[in-house]
Order: sequence, then structure tokens, then C-alpha cells
Amino acid sequence: MTTATVVGSGPNGLAAAVVLARAGVDVTVLEGAPEIGGGTRTVEAIVPGLLHDHCSAVHPMAVGSPLLTGLELHRYGLRWRLPEIDCVHPLDDGTAGVLYRSVTETAAHLGPDERRWRTLFEAPVRGYDALSEDILGPLLRLPAHPLRLARFGAPTPLPALALARVFRTPQARALWLGVAAHAFRPLHEPFSSAIGLGILTAGHRHGWAVAEGGSRAITHALAALLRDLGGKVETGVWVRSASRIPPSDVVLWDLAPTALAQILGDRLPPRVRRAYERFRHGPAAHKVDFAVEDGVPWRAEAARRSGTVHLGGPPAEIATAERAVHAGHLPERPFVLVGQQYLADPSRSVGDVHPVWAYAHVPHGYDGDITQAVVAQIERFAPGFRERIVGAAPHPPAAFAADNPNFVGGDILTGAKDVRQMLLGPGAVTHPYDTGVPGHFICSAATPPGPGAHGMCGAHAAARALKHLTSRKKDLLQKHVGERRWGEAAGA
Ligand SMILES: Cc1cc2nc3c(=O)[nH]c(=O)nc-3n(C[C@H](O)[C@H](O)[C@H](O)COP(=O)(O)OP(=O)(O)OC[C@H]3O[C@@H](n4cnc5c(N)ncnc54)[C@H](O)[C@@H]3O)c2cc1C
Repeated sequence: MTTATVVGSGPNGLAAAVVLARAGVDVTVLEGAPEIGGGTRTVEAIVPGLLHDHCSAVHPMAVGSPLLTGLELHRYGLRWRLPEIDCVHPLDDGTAGVLYRSVTETAAHLGPDERRWRTLFEAPVRGYDALSEDILGPLLRLPAHPLRLARFGAPTPLPALALARVFRTPQARALWLGVAAHAFRPLHEPFSSAIGLGILTAGHRHGWAVAEGGSRAITHALAALLRDLGGKVETGVWVRSASRIPPSDVVLWDLAPTALAQILGDRLPPRVRRAYERFRHGPAAHKVDFAVEDGVPWRAEAARRSGTVHLGGPPAEIATAERAVHAGHLPERPFVLVGQQYLADPSRSVGDVHPVWAYAHVPHGYDGDITQAVVAQIERFAPGFRERIVGAAPHPPAAFAADNPNFVGGDILTGAKDVRQMLLGPGAVTHPYDTGVPGHFICSAATPPGPGAHGMCGAHAAARALKHLTSRKKDLLQKHVGERRWGEAAGA
């Protein structure tokens, strides 16, 4: 039987394993941590029973992922829950930019920017299901829907700050820039609009969904499906050398390119090794989980009903903060993302105590504790927050890197999302999932379409591995047929 080993059980590793197992391959997943899931783990960090998403929290890309939707993961316990409001960006005067799932409803609340929001999102959202085939895969290939892609792609080369100027109101500008900031890029740079446009289009189509019971439900469902297909997952196995891999026809690595360069070393073609070693990482996340009695007392009423709240203040402040972290400085007021997943999924709370998830953008490898700066940002838009805190658990960049080697220096996106790395992927090879070592493929979020718990990097890498197996089978078959003919001829 054909065999595969997958190293790493993040959503991409498990997605790759499932795709291979469905094709009849005997798959073993090796995970270094004691628990599966990588960036989708869920933890009880402060109060027993209070569930915090350790990393990924909201999933506009995963809920409509072409791979995950086809796997019927509800049979394995994955249920998506939607908040009443997807995202709110409060301003100091008590007003806010408010993102609803519906484009029409969002636009209607943006006053003079109504028409502009509709112009930007209506057509791409209508075509999103077809469009997702193109944007959730390698970008340098013939698109399946070129016209739709061209329509969606037209504003993506713009710096996010330039696109913000399309809007007139500070609410619409801040709402847009807060989402664009998810890319951890300086917002004046070309293509800094791309990731924000993708998130907003996916979100308007599918909502900013959370997984019931915590994000771990995504990878637990994938692992349960894998076991049903005959696959195995072993935890507590850190792979530091290729000799640790059992004999396998293909190996898929759910790892950062820098780690893979160390493991495969001289087996990599020199130009791939160089490219992996030089792979760039972006700024970091400093997370703080809070246990909060009665929730956060936001001044903007919409924020009390919203799954996500972006705290970056007015447009200029967001741009300054992002530019600073990129240059290696901690801004006085860092950009903070707050998650209130319990609003869509009350099973995560314990009585009146709710889990509040927050992280700030900080410089790569930042080693201070900025819990107080995060509290101050929340307090700024929710006076009285401090008094409601029952407990807090900080998780600085070094802790992320220690839990999961893919988050180098606290870079939670597994690589800087600059144009080159977004378009070409990590290696200097023709296909972003190839490593240049026959039978070895890279499938982590360092490859297209990039970060998120959508599993599409794993799915595309597994398709590439299956193609390799098929062509190898053809070669073997030809060789076998050739040998038989020779044998027959020799015996004659
Ligand atoms: C704070 C934070 C917030 C986030 N928010 C969101 C969000 O809201 N929505 C969203 O979609 N995404 C979010 N993400 C990003 C998301 O978690 C990642 O993009 C996603 O998990 C990447 O999946 P992956 O399979 O590529 O790798 P990972 O999830 O990083 O998994 C890699 C796995 O490989 C294992 N591993 C690494 N090296 C080895 C080795 N040598 N041997 C064995 N095992 C190894 C690791 O332990 C890990 O389990 C967030 C991440 C963080 C940290």
C-alpha cells in the first residue's frame, strides 16, 4: 500500500492527511506537541471550564473553505456559530464602524459611504463561491474564473491607506484599515489591501464564524475523519531529522521553511535551501486571555454584540502603529484585536464569567510584557473594563514560538505576507508546495493561500503529492512491464 507521513497536525497537516487518506494512501501524522491542532488549540487558561482559543478564533475563510465544506465535518462535531455582528471598530467619540454579514446592512450604516462599500464588495461577494477556487490556492496559475478574479483583484495592488481614501467617513476608513491590518503589513505598501479584501469578501459571504466548543473542534473533526479513513496520529514526536520519518512514499511537512531547511539540510537543492533559510518572518502577536465578569462594557453599543472588536482608534493611528511594529518599535498604543467568541458560542463561558481573547501587534521577537497596554486600549473604549477582570493570562511572542516552532519570533502568520512570498511561496521552485526533494512537500501556512484554519495549503500540497505518486506509479508500471517483456524474451 502507498504510504505517507505528515509532520505537524495543524489544520494544514491534517487537511493534507485527509486528502491523501481519501485517495487510499496509508497516512501517519507525527505531531511534536502533546496535543494535536497547532494554531487551532483551545485551552482553559484561567478558570476551569472557561474555554479560550489559544490561537485562531474567527474563521471567515474556513467556514467556506472548498476543502472543509466538502468533508461533512458536522458528522465529526464541527458546528459553526455566527455572532450577531461580525466586527466593530470603535472610535474615541463613541461612534463605530460596524461590519455586518450583509453588504447591504453594513453599507446602510456607513452614511455617505454606503455606495462605495457596495461598489467594492457586492460583485465579489456574489461570485465568492466560484472565486474562492482561485484565491484559496496558488496565485500564479491559470485562474478558473478569470473575469471574476480580475474584478476582485483590481484594487488588491493598492496600499490599504490609498484604498481608505475612497471612503469619506472616519468610521468606514477605520473599519477598512482595521481589517487590512490583519496582514501585519505597513498599510502604505503596495498590495497591503489584498488580505483585507479577501477577509471582507469571505466574511460578507459566510460570516465571521467561530467553532462551537472552541477552534480545536476544527482539527478534532479532521483527526476523527482521518481515523475513520484508516489514518493514524501520533503526538509527542518532534521530528528534528529526516531519519526520524518511517519509510514513506511521500512526506508532507506542515512546518515553517526555516525549520525544514534545518531538517532536510543538504538533501534540498542549494537554491531551495537558501530560499528557505532566507524566508522572512513578520511582526509578532502578544496575546492576553481574560476572564471577564459580565463581559466588556463597551461604550459603542454595537461592540457589545460583536464577535470581534478592533482597537486601533482613528485611521492615522492604525497606520502609525503598524508602521512602527514593522520597523521594530513598540507603539505607545498598539493595534489590538479583541475576540468575544462566547457571544456566538455561550458554551465557552462559566456562569457570568466570559472568556475574552485579545492580542496586540508587536515587533518580531518582542520580549516585554504588554498586558497593561492591552488593558489600557480596551479600557479606552470600554471604561470600567479593568474592574471586571477576574483573571488574565499573557502569552508573549516567545511563548508562541515555544509552543509551536511554526510561529518563529511570535509571527503567527508563518511568514511575512509581502508580495514576493504571497505570490511565489517559500522556495525557489516552480510549484510552491515542492521542496525539490522528490516525494517531499511543504504544506504549512507559509505556502499559498497562506494563514488561517481553512486547510487549503494542505489540500493543494496533498494534490501535488498525489500527482507525484501517480506519475511515479506510471514510471514503475512502465518499468515493470518492460522487465516482464525482457524476462519473457529472455526465457523464450
Ligand atoms: C494568536 C493567533 C491568532 C490567530 N487568529 C486566527 C484567526 O482568527 N483565524 C484564522 O483563520 N487563523 C488565525 N490564526 C492563524 C492560524 O492559527 C494559522 O494560520 C494556522 O494554524 C496555520 O496552520 P498550519 O497547519 O499551517 O500550522 P500550525 O497550525 O502552526 O501547525 C503546525 C503544527 O506542526 C507541529 N510541529 C512543528 N514543528 C514540528 C516538528 N519538527 N515535529 C513535529 N511537529 C511539529 C506544531 O506543534 C503544530 O502542531 C491565528 C494564530 C494565532 C497564533
